[in-house]
Amino acid sequence: MMHPRSTPAAALAVVGILGLAVALGTRTQTQAARWYKGNTHTHTLNSDGDSTPDEVVKWYRSHGYQFLVLTDHNFLTTVDGLNALHSASEKFLVVKGEEVTDKFGDLSLHINGLDVERLVEPQGGKSVADVLQRNVNAIREARGIPHINHPNYRWSITKDELRQIQNNKLFEIYNGHPQVNLQGGGGVPGLEEVWDYILSSGVLLYGLAVDDAHTFKDPGNPAVAGPGRGWVMVRAERLEARALLAAMERGDFYSSTGVVLSDYRVTPKEMTLTVAKTTFSKYRIQFIGKGGKVLHEALDSPATYAFTGAEGYVRARVLESNGQMAWMQPAIVK
Ligand SMILES: [Zn+2]
Ligand SMILES: [Zn+2]
Repeated sequence: MMHPRSTPAAALAVVGILGLAVALGTRTQTQAARWYKGNTHTHTLNSDGDSTPDEVVKWYRSHGYQFLVLTDHNFLTTVDGLNALHSASEKFLVVKGEEVTDKFGDLSLHINGLDVERLVEPQGGKSVADVLQRNVNAIREARGIPHINHPNYRWSITKDELRQIQNNKLFEIYNGHPQVNLQGGGGVPGLEEVWDYILSSGVLLYGLAVDDAHTFKDPGNPAVAGPGRGWVMVRAERLEARALLAAMERGDFYSSTGVVLSDYRVTPKEMTLTVAKTTFSKYRIQFIGKGGKVLHEALDSPATYAFTGAEGYVRARVLESNGQMAWMQPAIVK
């Protein structure tokens, strides 16, 4: 298991990224890097959530997470007091954030700003791409890390609009809200197809799984946006906002709706992952390249894919027999 409290740091993957063929941005890992489970999209009573920030933090802290970003609509919740209450043992971190909630006509354009230093007001703009770009820029100016949320919510952001956005590395490949149209339909592509389209066009984007949790007082109801549905596992040197966010922006994380990995390595030659199996589950591990093509499917792990140099990019996903998934981040291979 990759749980940081149960895994010796020395056993975690150590990857040298000096490859000639594989560009992994500035991704580097050190002996001290550990895996931290977190959710980067959460609401409280400070916007349309049903619970106080304190109650929300308690839920995540008591369900095996190590960090949480509070992202109310156009509201920056103060987290110093929460961290003083919940992080005395340095085992849990609350990061401040905001869901910058903008629109273009009837379309809902939501961009998270993680660890912004001040409230960012919705910026508006003259097209969908312009609104997104102006908000991404404003989040960067406030020293925050942007991520573009639920593109298919109200069918608001097309793949070509998403592809154009500059200075943004992250978008939601999975969001636990029940009305975000993850699978697409009616001729609109699902988000994995959108991701492969954008990656195939040469734009590097990393995929996040998030809860977008609003409702903590109706547990188990699939019709509400409850917690615990999608999260990220981030490989960072320490449990600190800037270390976590820098790791995410270099793609050093994976996203999950339940699948946990015990090992994950990318070297200049290959990508390898090992699933931490649960007793009765079976798995398919797919390595995907340009155009969304499945390059290789493994039925057991460790699963390895050796790069040929012609893939454009390689990403992996794990499909579990009850519908859980995990998504690795793409490595550019050329
Ligand atoms: Zn939203
Ligand atoms: Zn939200």
